[in-house]
Amino acid sequence: MKKLEEIADKVIDTDFLIIGGGIVGAIAAYRAKKNNPMLKITIIDKAKMEYSGNGVGLDNFNHIPLKPEDLHKKYVTEEEVKKAVFGVNRLKRTVPAKLDAIQEKNRAISLPVLREMGILIGEDDGTIKVIQGYRKGTVWGRVEYDEQGRPTEPLFGTLSRASDLKPKLGAAVRKVGVTVFDRTMLTSIITKDGVAIGATAFNTRTGEFYVFKAKTILLASGMASRLYPYQYAPYPNNLFYTLTSPVNHGGGHICALNAGARLYSMEMSIVYIVSKGMNHSSGGGACNWFFKMYNSKGEILEDKYPERVVTKAGGTIPGVNFLFAPDMEHAEVEHDVILSRKDMAEDDEMVAVYFTAATEPPKALKFHKLAGHLRNELPAECIPVLVGIGMFGGGVYRENEYSETAVKNLFAAGDVAGRGGSFGFTWGCLIADHVCERIKDITPISFGVDQLADIENTKLKIYAPLHRKVKYQIHPLELEDYVRQVNWYYVGLHRNEGKLKRALELIGRAKEALSYIVATNPHELMRCIEVSDIIDISEMHARCALLRTESRLIPVHYREDYPKEDPEWDGIVITIRKEGERILYEKTKLE
Ligand SMILES: Cc1cc2nc3c(=O)[nH]c(=O)nc-3n(C[C@H](O)[C@H](O)[C@H](O)COP(=O)(O)OP(=O)(O)OC[C@H]3O[C@@H](n4cnc5c(N)ncnc54)[C@H](O)[C@@H]3O)c2cc1C
Repeated sequence: MKKLEEIADKVIDTDFLIIGGGIVGAIAAYRAKKNNPMLKITIIDKAKMEYSGNGVGLDNFNHIPLKPEDLHKKYVTEEEVKKAVFGVNRLKRTVPAKLDAIQEKNRAISLPVLREMGILIGEDDGTIKVIQGYRKGTVWGRVEYDEQGRPTEPLFGTLSRASDLKPKLGAAVRKVGVTVFDRTMLTSIITKDGVAIGATAFNTRTGEFYVFKAKTILLASGMASRLYPYQYAPYPNNLFYTLTSPVNHGGGHICALNAGARLYSMEMSIVYIVSKGMNHSSGGGACNWFFKMYNSKGEILEDKYPERVVTKAGGTIPGVNFLFAPDMEHAEVEHDVILSRKDMAEDDEMVAVYFTAATEPPKALKFHKLAGHLRNELPAECIPVLVGIGMFGGGVYRENEYSETAVKNLFAAGDVAGRGGSFGFTWGCLIADHVCERIKDITPISFGVDQLADIENTKLKIYAPLHRKVKYQIHPLELEDYVRQVNWYYVGLHRNEGKLKRALELIGRAKEALSYIVATNPHELMRCIEVSDIIDISEMHARCALLRTESRLIPVHYREDYPKEDPEWDGIVITIRKEGERILYEKTKLE
């Protein structure tokens, strides 16, 4: 048996290993280092943490209420938390409620930490307000600053002024002495007797193989973003785009499952729409599906501007109540800032958190028509953007109040755990505090023969495509593209038994093709690992969609053959775990 040093190019000892330098990973690292400067804290990030992950898009801190005094007051009972926007009730009981209650009770925790990290929250006079910032011609609300550091166009300032959120988070963690390994992709989590004791990773530029020995691990690798085809961009100068970060391919999910953690709700996909006349598909798009939109005076937008309502209870996709296409010509609409009006909501309807009616000409439609992407049965004025799994439901299952997985000392939070958004800042802090407490009692566990064998096997497996000799080579990106098309046509928005079985058959063929993929350099090798993970996740996605014989949170999971919500499935999720090489799917009651 080879020694560890012979297998790995580098062996790194650390106390707290953080996988993913996104918003969760960054704040957790910073907080833990501030709590205990003696701790060795390491972040590995598959890309460069200053520019990677979904946090690049985050521009409203949804966990911070509009009035600072509400920070401590609101949503303190579990019942209130369940009713909150993105709360358990509104997500149709597909996520654990207990953890949400902890999250809401602690939501003020990240504010001072973020300020310390150089993130401006609120206005210069200390008030907190939401002014959404989608500007004409820009993708996300970028804010320009004058020489004094003030935004040049206050109207378009955002709560977080977040165009530089990620660079600031990155700079802050490096400054306090956290070690960051950029371009370093997780390839396995090492366990001994059900306890996480380390991880293997691979440098996507140099091809080096690293082994990390760690006392505790936080998995914060984001959602599984690459399950469906890329869309054509509705933005000027961007022909192709993806709403969520394509770096996050779901490798963390697979490594966690292999290590003994459970996954849950893998059938639930993230769906956004791009509708005619809108220059973005984020909050606004989601609002169109699920929310009533109010302006700051409390008026309901579709009542006020009936001519802007594109579809009402339209299309064949149930769940579309209306689509609203605001227009630049309506100056009043343009400047409407839609604030949270929770007080106006009935129990079962959602209220927009925010919405600014800024818009661009309907370029999206044109691109989609040209590309032949518009499907007949969709409402004529919109296209859905299906991305993947995570953010709000679906991912690594957290088993206790510490956000710990079924593997001891392996924590998970944020999009990878299906509970994303700026709430991730709260979990980053809570986990860091808990880890600092617990770590005092952890003595490092040494790697045994089994661990060395696992590490060597991982290495053999991940490097196998490098210079593989096969007659018919398959490029990993071609295979990925194929699987994403399969997901689009046979899982997608309109699911039924026949299509899902077809998806599984084709995904099975894609699996066989894995032994033909070839890499000629470390970057392509990364693509090979990614496509293998994407295929595994696709299989779980389709299998769970097949098992869930009802529709829920339409269009997130819509079964044509079971079009109604079934009370039998209320509060039930499908969890996935591994027993040896077998993958088990189990109906599990949520707490
Ligand atoms: C366009 C957009 C706009 C949004 N706007 C808002 C908003 O206004 N308000 C709000 O509350 N939320 C918003 N969200 C959601 C929010 O950004 C995410 O929920 C949040 O960023 C999740 O944080 P995270 O740390 O879990 O993951 P991420 O921020 O995605 O970070 C994941 C990190 O893990 C790294 N990684 C991935 N795989 C691996 C691997 N195998 N090995 C090592 N590293 C890996 C990635 O490089 C990345 O740095 C938005 C999301 C998008 C995409």
